[in-house]
Amino acid sequence: MMEIAKLVPKEPKGLVVVITGHGKGKTTTAFGLAVRACGHDMRVCIIQFMKGDLYSGEWDGVKKMNCAIELHTTGKGFCGIQGNPYPHSEHRQNAQDAAALAREKTMSGNYDLLILDEINNALHLKLVDLEQVVGLIAKKPPLLHLVLTGRDAHPQIIELADTVSEVVEIKHAYRKGIEPQPGIDY
Ligand code: ATP
Ligand code: MG
Repeated sequence: MMEIAKLVPKEPKGLVVVITGHGKGKTTTAFGLAVRACGHDMRVCIIQFMKGDLYSGEWDGVKKMNCAIELHTTGKGFCGIQGNPYPHSEHRQNAQDAAALAREKTMSGNYDLLILDEINNALHLKLVDLEQVVGLIAKKPPLLHLVLTGRDAHPQIIELADTVSEVVEIKHAYRKGIEPQPGIDY
């Protein structure tokens, strides 16, 4: 049987990865990274900003996977979209609590991969401040990988990141009036 090679970096380094853009695939990319990290027995923490009002399968999916993914879902949905009844101040308070949690998790040294899902968006909507996100990046342990997802990533965060991907929408089913489907959209 063919032998499987496993690369080991000569110089391990915690990377800052940004997944942004208006196409579909940012949050699911981040969860894909979490699955990959689990395969390496890495310790993963995911903090979701601006979620919590609408169920998404990954909440239970990670529990069923029997691996070291700690998931914190925070917030009350997407700030500013039609139908969301909560004022900006409440969204901001929620995001500030999540940012404090992110800081605690970053500094704890207990994780190899920290994913801050929708934080780019939270910054764009002024629910968290640029200095807070820059501070997290600056103070993170050298071996901690930090993944920041969400549309409209701030130019300064893009500048600080090591790897940046923009997910571009070529097509999205919703434009044909197709409603969100479980397993794909949530
Ligand atoms: P996913 O969670 O599928 O990886 P995403 O994180 O890239 O998507 P978000 O902007 O966080 O995208 O949107 C979350 C959900 O809303 C996704 O299920 C996606 O299919 C859907 N979605 C994305 N863009 C739009 C849009 N412009 N209109 C309606 N639904 C959208
Ligand atoms: Mg998302």
